[in-house]
Amino acid sequence: MQKPTVLKIFNQKSTQIIDAIQHLVYPNVCVICQKEVLNKTNVVCPFCELDFNYTHFESYDVPTILDKLFWGRVKINKTFALLFFEKNKDAQPILHALKYQSRMEVGSQLGRIIGKKIESNFNDLDALIPVPIHHKKKFLRGYNQSEMIANGISQILQVPVYNNFVVKKENTKSQTKMGKNLRWNNVQEQFLWNKQKLKKFRHIAVVDDVITTGATIESLAKSILNQDEDIKISIISLALTK
Ligand SMILES: [Zn+2]
Repeated sequence: MQKPTVLKIFNQKSTQIIDAIQHLVYPNVCVICQKEVLNKTNVVCPFCELDFNYTHFESYDVPTILDKLFWGRVKINKTFALLFFEKNKDAQPILHALKYQSRMEVGSQLGRIIGKKIESNFNDLDALIPVPIHHKKKFLRGYNQSEMIANGISQILQVPVYNNFVVKKENTKSQTKMGKNLRWNNVQEQFLWNKQKLKKFRHIAVVDDVITTGATIESLAKSILNQDEDIKISIISLALTK
């Protein structure tokens, strides 16, 4: 083994000192418990990660409630949600951090956890498609939270994320002024697709942050199937409201 030179030792030491100073100035704290997180790429500590309300859908061999949510509505291939999110607990820190505190790394860390859980089940995907948010919202928040989750999943599954594949249309008509049927049609026509790219894919996964009624996913999936009825559509969500 080569002996470390004085310069090398000096460089190592100075890097360590710089790291330590940076850590003092900007400590990496867990978004939930505020305790220090040692792994620089993570923003949730291992203790809070263990405490999550996991669905364990990856080990089900019967249809889950998320599968059943879409029965009779739209043809979905596979579904997965990592966490249960209880209604009326909107301040659940993980989603709050992801949406309102500009902690977009939350999305990629949880996306990586999702990726590891579904690796063996979702092995023929061509694309990850984050549910789009309105461009004004994206501008204000600085990012699309579903895109961050998709990026984390992509790191594990090695499946590309397509951000500009679908866009949310400007909502010109006020929905409250329309009748029930018209309102539904309006929801279905909210999305615009890149039809050329769609032809290349056989199995895509739509990535969402929270699924409640499934209405957005349903309209997204229907609009894709209108273009290509043979494409397989799966759904991956960070959370499912129960
Ligand atoms: Zn924590």
